[in-house]
Amino acid sequence: MNKDEILTLLEGVKEEAKEKYKAEIKGIFGSYVRDEATEQSDIDVKEIAMSPTGQAKTYLNFIAGKWVKSESGKTFTNPNPADFEEVLGLFQDSTPADLEKAIASAASASENWRSGSLSEREEIFRRAVVLLEQRKEKLALELTREEGKTLQESHQEIQSAISEMRFQVGQARRFLSEPGTSGRKDVVCYSVRQPLGVVSVITPWNFPVNVPCRKITPALMAGNTVVFKPASFTPLVGLRLVEILTEAGIPKGVVNFITGRGSAIGNQMVAHPLVKAVSFTGSTEVGVRICSQASLHLAKVQLEMGGKNPMVVLEDADLELAAKDAVYAGCACSGQWCTSTSRVILLREIADQFVSLLVDEVKQIKVGDGLDRDTTMGPVAGEGQLKKILSYIELGKKEGAKLILGGKRLTGSRYDKGFFIEPAIFTEVKPEIKIAQEEIFGPVLSVMVVDSFAQALKVANGIRQGLSSSIYTKDLARATEFVQRSEAGLTHVNLPTSFKEPQLPFGGVKLSGYGPPEAGKSGIEFFTEHKSIYLSCR
Ligand code: NAP
Repeated sequence: MNKDEILTLLEGVKEEAKEKYKAEIKGIFGSYVRDEATEQSDIDVKEIAMSPTGQAKTYLNFIAGKWVKSESGKTFTNPNPADFEEVLGLFQDSTPADLEKAIASAASASENWRSGSLSEREEIFRRAVVLLEQRKEKLALELTREEGKTLQESHQEIQSAISEMRFQVGQARRFLSEPGTSGRKDVVCYSVRQPLGVVSVITPWNFPVNVPCRKITPALMAGNTVVFKPASFTPLVGLRLVEILTEAGIPKGVVNFITGRGSAIGNQMVAHPLVKAVSFTGSTEVGVRICSQASLHLAKVQLEMGGKNPMVVLEDADLELAAKDAVYAGCACSGQWCTSTSRVILLREIADQFVSLLVDEVKQIKVGDGLDRDTTMGPVAGEGQLKKILSYIELGKKEGAKLILGGKRLTGSRYDKGFFIEPAIFTEVKPEIKIAQEEIFGPVLSVMVVDSFAQALKVANGIRQGLSSSIYTKDLARATEFVQRSEAGLTHVNLPTSFKEPQLPFGGVKLSGYGPPEAGKSGIEFFTEHKSIYLSCR
């Protein structure tokens, strides 16, 4: 990538941000390596049209190794949530007929891909990692403009995607076969994990690079072929990932990319008889529907869904650390992580002091366009998101909770074209009210006060979801009890609810997760079926 191409990325970015970034991009430019082999080669076959504003390009589906239009002839747009007048692209509003072609393409590529060598797959992913590293800056800019998160958060997400990819590639060789010891002298036995065939990957908008990487990498390493549908809020960075995989050498038909409304094509991605597994991340509501459709033809499902994550703070905790972490995990990415802290459960004796630390911490947050370097919290992802969060804030007030900070839509020249909201803190929250029970998916902390550790544990577990939890204390006994009894797929001690690493499974329990979790060993296990083999020379 050369300097002009990078500067072209800034087309459509607001003027003031553009000026700031030009200076920085010049610095970044030094770190780019021009490499003919990694230049985008599909540009001539991809239709590039101008939108009515003269800015946005039209992007196509990727089926059987070709960039193609939807048979619908229709497109949809993905506006920048920090400036909805900026449209990043026009994307194919696909139909079941398009999906049929994508599934057929994945099915016909399956035999060659599954019988290919593991070394070849490893090599392709090694090249993909290099490309991701090389394009990190470009991808981070697009991610911020498409999803709204700050540039720093975008960098973190891409770095995390690279780590997930590396880990899943590295573990495949070890995991896909396992020696056994026969009880008989004349028998040799071992087991292998075999690919399933065609798998559907359906992803959300809040981690539009990391979540697809975490699913597609193990699916392909295991020898499956993929039909990938990104969330309609964030198709561009999903498409960039497909470009990278293609340039890295993934053969035709092995990865197929299709954009469109989940409500229009999602059903077929799950119910199609050739689809052997569905890996989905998104809301519990859609996850439950997917589960029931997939069960009709016994397709495997991996569902990663919403959370309502508690942080418990005991009287002996490092309160400053806990308050910083609560606000970090509650407001990073505008509270739109599935692992965001949304409930803060405090022992009564430290409650007043802790709330005042929380307020001080939240007041430090600078809301704005994620492209501005001084912004620490970007907009929420879209108008629907904004309305939903504001309606929960109104509901919380009606339910008797006390809004002590924030909670309003931000207005004024810095904010008028985007979906910006003040981070909010509620106190006097009763555990049974809706804002304490339902996922708000916004920067809203609900503080609950309890009289004992036992009560804190009960409140922490008193929800239908079970994604992540954390406790802050120096007391090893109570920390250990919390770890054992917390009903969550991820539990932390003196770490924020959002903390995770790629080598451990990632997923929830209760209504937050179903099927083998992503990442760790189960990340690849899900995309395989087992075969035990016994050999004898009789
Ligand atoms: P969502 O509305 O459930 O959408 C997720 C994906 O499913 C999107 O690609 C969506 O497409 C698609 N979809 C919608 N209806 C469908 C249907 N009937 N059949 C098949 N697919 C369908 O969720 P979201 O708003 O994008 O994401 C936010 C949610 O994801 C939150 O609840 C969050 O907690 C959860 N999440 C969980 C994790 C985790 O690992 N546990 C991680 C990240 C996010 P369209 O975009 O076209 O509607």
